[in-house]
Amino acid sequence: MTLPKVYVGIPIQEVGLKLLRGNVDFKVLEKNGVPPRDELLRDLRDVEGLLGSIPIRVDAELFDAAPKLRVVSNYAVGYDNIDVPEATKRGICITNTPDVLTPATADLAFSLILASARRLIEANAFLRSGDWKVWGPELLVGQEVAGSTIGIIGMGNIGQAVAKRARGFDMKVLYFSRSRCPEAESTLDAKYVPLVELLRESDFVSLHCPLTESTRGLIGAKELRSMKKTAILINTARGPLVDPQALYTACAEGWIWGAGLDVFVKEPVPLDEPLLKLVNVTTFPHIGSASRIARDGMAIRSAENLLSVLQGKKPRDLVNKEVWK
Ligand code: NAP
Repeated sequence: MTLPKVYVGIPIQEVGLKLLRGNVDFKVLEKNGVPPRDELLRDLRDVEGLLGSIPIRVDAELFDAAPKLRVVSNYAVGYDNIDVPEATKRGICITNTPDVLTPATADLAFSLILASARRLIEANAFLRSGDWKVWGPELLVGQEVAGSTIGIIGMGNIGQAVAKRARGFDMKVLYFSRSRCPEAESTLDAKYVPLVELLRESDFVSLHCPLTESTRGLIGAKELRSMKKTAILINTARGPLVDPQALYTACAEGWIWGAGLDVFVKEPVPLDEPLLKLVNVTTFPHIGSASRIARDGMAIRSAENLLSVLQGKKPRDLVNKEVWK
């Protein structure tokens, strides 16, 4: 029996590769990075499945180069790297990896909240640079997290997990989302408010909506100017949700108190990015889901989704449900 050909365009964990062995004939990208586009397209000529992630742009050009493609399994919950309508038009299944990365990403968002508010990265650098000569009442004073107000934009899986953590810190939870979330309202006492009110009232504004045409540039100069001067913007969702020039000005000129960022418009972020020069901007290299449990879970789920389609079974995490007849 000939096995379906698959290209694994990201070096996923062994727990995922193990599931593929014996079920598909696959080639795997050995190290981190994006293969040159022409090489990638050449490798896709005969494949029925692609297991990829954020760095691989999946569009009409890629589909044209892969005429046998039946499934693109994304090793991520976000799928803004994929032209889903184009895939749907061609009957190609798109899958993602929700849930398994929710706790890890919510923990990371909360780490950014604490690190930004209490200036933890700055404090660590201060100590190691030898500048700590004397303790003083105003040394590295930051913002209080406990009892403050958090505004969550996008009350989905991660937004709710962040809200749950915030309640543990006695925070008041406001949220704005595409649809109401009755569960968060009843179990976490989260209050749905219009975006303008959320921005005006929150001490922390945390982004958890997907990158789509309606959320691109959601936070620009107008929104940043409407926030409290003591507020902190947290972005663990996607870089293009925020206008980086406006954020730079807001943090440099004190419209807001600071920002905590795990994601950027361009990744890896170039070292000449102005935001990296600001001490009140805490930055991480897109490590939201980087826990052992989450990453192994993503490897398993992405492999299972891929296999399901190739074996004629409806995948658990089908994004474009309309392709499955
Ligand atoms: P999710 O469960 O689908 O939640 C997304 C939420 O955003 C949903 O409640 C959705 O509303 C809402 N939403 C959609 N469009 C909106 C809009 N225009 N305005 C306001 N809210 C809107 O997804 P998730 O698992 O929580 O993940 C959220 C995002 O986090 C992902 O898309 C990804 O980009 C990012 N992420 C980043 C990392 C990282 O490593 N930093 C890791 C994981 C995820 P509906 O309920 O109406 O759909």
